[in-house]
Amino acid sequence: MDRRAFLKVAGTLALAGISLPMSWGLETVWAQDFSHCPTHAPDNGVQDAISKIEEPAGGEEFLKVRFFDRDFNDDVYLPDNEMPLLLSSVIRFERIQRQIGHGNFCLAGFDDALACARSYAGIGPFSSREIDFLENLFQRPAGDYGFMGKKTVSRLTWQVPPGKTVKIEDTGQYLYKGRSEALYQDIRKKIGTQAVLTSGIRGVSKQFLLFLNKAVQSRGNLSMASRSLAPPGYSFHATGDFDMGEKGFGPDNFTEKFTRTRVYNRLSSLGYIQFRYGPRNHLGVRYEPWHVEVKG
Ligand SMILES: [Zn+2]
Repeated sequence: MDRRAFLKVAGTLALAGISLPMSWGLETVWAQDFSHCPTHAPDNGVQDAISKIEEPAGGEEFLKVRFFDRDFNDDVYLPDNEMPLLLSSVIRFERIQRQIGHGNFCLAGFDDALACARSYAGIGPFSSREIDFLENLFQRPAGDYGFMGKKTVSRLTWQVPPGKTVKIEDTGQYLYKGRSEALYQDIRKKIGTQAVLTSGIRGVSKQFLLFLNKAVQSRGNLSMASRSLAPPGYSFHATGDFDMGEKGFGPDNFTEKFTRTRVYNRLSSLGYIQFRYGPRNHLGVRYEPWHVEVKG
């Protein structure tokens, strides 16, 4: 199976919520020969189609926000020789999440992930090349590939402060005690139980897994991945923001369809939605109407 076919399968599975074909294992990833595959070619068809659309004021910057899941000519990709590291790191983080549970994984730091991987034979320790790859990705300024949001966590070894979090019933998610929890309870009181927490605190490992999965879906296009999701170290979910959705709306809670729900309309009219990433933001990030900002 060549790189394109492999990544297509991986991407399809990722979209279906199954990040990678686990049965293939790390050996299968490393057995892939990516060297003969063509380098990434921007989708000129998409580029042409975009150029025909009336350009909003502000130019290409807003086109990228709107067409966040398309390739652009100046997008930045992982080099081909790092693709196996991307895939094997995702597999390892997935195994850790399965081992310790989704809730615990949301709070796990990078060192926790390394320790967990070492402790369980079924996960296997991160290799030094994987660790270097992850460290470099964390340290690399995300502005290199077009993400202009600010860094929220400066150290790879940062941990969610123990004892300052609370598990939110029926969600498997955590919020910080204090401001975040109070805001969430206030929303539930005013809007009702149809308003559900869809994503709370995310430590470094969780943000890694989400971002690396996006990078798999985007075939190594870091720019495209970062238009949908903050890179590790840049998410406000580490510092208190959270995502809200409507009960039963499923994955559509993370699409613009959410703006048609009663929960969104109530959140909006009550003034809870202070956009970190509005429809015309300058940060190179797609519109996220489900994201609730918690001011520090
Ligand atoms: Zn969010």
